Amino acid sequence: MSKSPHPDKLPGLLSPWRRTFQWFSSLLILLLPWFQLDGKSLLRIDVPSLSLHLFGQVLRIEELFLFLLFCLAFGVGFLLITLISGRVWCGWACPQTTLNDLAEWFAKLIKLEVIHNQLKGELWRKSIAQLFYLLLSALVSANLIWYFIEPQTFFNRIVSGQLHYGVWLTLLSLTLTIYLDLALIRRLMCKEFCPYGRIQTALVDEGTLTLQIPESEKERCTECGSCITACPMEIDIRQGLQIECINCGCCLDACRKVMQNYQQPGLIYYTFGTDNQGTKALFNPRTITLLLVFLVISSILTFSVLTRAEASLKVSVSHTVASRILKNGQQATFFNAWVNNRSTHSKIYHLQAQTLDGAVLTIKGQTDNLDLSAGRNQKFDYVLVSPAAKEPFMIEFILLGQQNQQLATAEAQISPVTK
Ligand code: SF4
Ligand code: SF4
Repeated sequence: MSKSPHPDKLPGLLSPWRRTFQWFSSLLILLLPWFQLDGKSLLRIDVPSLSLHLFGQVLRIEELFLFLLFCLAFGVGFLLITLISGRVWCGWACPQTTLNDLAEWFAKLIKLEVIHNQLKGELWRKSIAQLFYLLLSALVSANLIWYFIEPQTFFNRIVSGQLHYGVWLTLLSLTLTIYLDLALIRRLMCKEFCPYGRIQTALVDEGTLTLQIPESEKERCTECGSCITACPMEIDIRQGLQIECINCGCCLDACRKVMQNYQQPGLIYYTFGTDNQGTKALFNPRTITLLLVFLVISSILTFSVLTRAEASLKVSVSHTVASRILKNGQQATFFNAWVNNRSTHSKIYHLQAQTLDGAVLTIKGQTDNLDLSAGRNQKFDYVLVSPAAKEPFMIEFILLGQQNQQLATAEAQISPVTK
């Protein structure tokens, strides 16, 4: 065996760090929908207005390119994390693993054994475990719904009996699915079904973080089997990198504990690169390219969100009311206008219309003091009075702010009245 280091120099255990991280990330997911910035959820998809609430910004579905950029940045960021840290996401941050750990922790707390992904013990203990899984599933399902309906609104509607039956159905389906996952599937999800594990094998390269026993260390192995017993995925890390490994580090801790008895460091290491190259293994073309792509997309997204106009205007000629000639010979054309307050505060707007030559046109309807709360998109109906059109011509609507500053414009075509 190799020379023993001083006992004080032996590395500590990872499990306290992992537990802390799991608690922190779980609480973050649980509490994020409860927090607001300028009266808007920190992160929520608002289905009625088809908008994404993102850290104080409201992105409407009309701003599809921002949605796409957000998805692209998220996807590339996730690939980058996978390329750098392998399945560390699975072992440390994935909600499925956190729920599995919680389910197995509770089973052991009430003195059940977990053998080959199954609970062993008396029936009443198993029943308590199932009840816990059901309650946990209901909480997780409600938590998912809160990313679509504000938690306060969700509970108010439950109390007043106004929660839509579609939401109830979603809540029950989710609860049942998560319960079946916790009761029957648990680790099988990571082993057999989760596509991320399969994608990950294609992404791992010579610079990815993996857990392994370096060849030079294998002679120190006492064959105690503690690493296998501790492994939630029931694999043997000594056989090398395996697709089922979720990089949780339980084997690493188990081995460190065993080797502390010999006042030696454990045999199992987290290492970037196959030959224990350390972080310098990250400086490879694949990782650097993906990092640059991620930075470029994130920068474009941030710039686009921060510099977009604070209001938008869309107009269209009404499809339901036909244009007509008035008694004074002028033409009345019916319009719908949608004004969107993209800012984080209530705003007052005014609307004007003019020909492309700058001649102001009369609009009937509410054009002044359009009072819109933050993020609101509202439809207004107007009648535009213009000279009778002999042939189609374009006009311009202008949305003005409180200081009469121009915020947005939209063009529309006036067509001759058909008899
Ligand atoms: S081999 Fe180690 S890191 Fe991989 S799943 Fe098993 S205990 Fe976790
Ligand atoms: S825990 Fe460590 S010493 Fe024991 S079998 Fe596993 S690798 Fe060998």
